[in-house]
Amino acid sequence: MNLKFVAVLLFLVVVLGVMFIYLKPIYRFREGLCDSSEGRLKYPQPSITHGRTDVVSVTPWLAPVVWEGTFYPVLLDSIYQKRNITVAATVFAVGKYIRFLKDFLETAEQHFFVGFKVKVYVFTDQPNEVPKVKMAAGRELVVRSVPNSKRWQDISARRMEIIQTLIEEMLKNDVDYIFCLDVDSKFHSRWGTESLGELVAVIHPGYYKDDRSKFPYERRPASRAYVAPGEGDFYYCGGAFGGVLAEVHQLAQTCRKNFEDDAKEGIEAAWQEESHLNRYMWLNKPSKVLSPEYLWQDFKARNSEVRVIRFSGVIKNYNEIRPN
Ligand code: UDP
Ligand code: MN
Repeated sequence: MNLKFVAVLLFLVVVLGVMFIYLKPIYRFREGLCDSSEGRLKYPQPSITHGRTDVVSVTPWLAPVVWEGTFYPVLLDSIYQKRNITVAATVFAVGKYIRFLKDFLETAEQHFFVGFKVKVYVFTDQPNEVPKVKMAAGRELVVRSVPNSKRWQDISARRMEIIQTLIEEMLKNDVDYIFCLDVDSKFHSRWGTESLGELVAVIHPGYYKDDRSKFPYERRPASRAYVAPGEGDFYYCGGAFGGVLAEVHQLAQTCRKNFEDDAKEGIEAAWQEESHLNRYMWLNKPSKVLSPEYLWQDFKARNSEVRVIRFSGVIKNYNEIRPN
């Protein structure tokens, strides 16, 4: 064999070896994965340039607005792992919406609080149709029966009442956080500990660039969901919200009562419980706000500031799936 060839080969082996030894930790460091000798995490130093400059990442009341690039997942996970938390999710699959449940549950297994204790509560009128989805250790599916309703507005609105009752039961066990999610959606990327807070709301993907005068808040003063002109922070989604049990209980109880008191007077807010949730969040500021990455809509083209879509509503034919 040619000596030159052997020399080049040896050189390459050495270069590759050095690259492997030195670059691998650097690569892992970027991901925030590197352990120091004491077993502590290493990650880039926080600086005044930390985060994103193209989007708002803190509210005027100093709640974080969570966007990709504003947090280190491994750092957050390590903090919450020590606390041994349990996260519950509620999802309703009533009537024809049962068809969305399989994808919802399967993608939740892949992306929703992976590595943490999770309890998914499914509320349905067809418990026998709930798909058998394999759940990882520490994750549990709980199926509860609920009656169907003639109007889709009632199905959607009754969620607040059922969530309120569920939390009253849960207070006795070991759930720490709860997220209430629409079933007609799928997870596409991580939704984890970065989303945890006392009271958590998601910015609606349809209105986040609009002036508040364009937000579809309930505008009739007679409704208990009323938001006056010049009021309101963000327009939040009814399809995803959460927080600690006590806070979500307060929210569900208040929205339910306001919804029912409106109904007694023959008023139904423009977007049902979403309108009531928006009114609630205006008066009771969320301690963490999730960007539209946390509830996109499949029919919407992805905007450049949205680097990751984590959870997104599927395209559906309303005429076909709603009871009326
Ligand atoms: N829902 C249901 N059955 C229905 C109508 C609604 O289970 O017939 C539940 C389901 O969890 C759904 C949520 O209520 O995701 C909210 O309704 P929908 O998704 O239709 O509202 P949108 O997201 O279109 O505003
Ligand atoms: Mn939905």
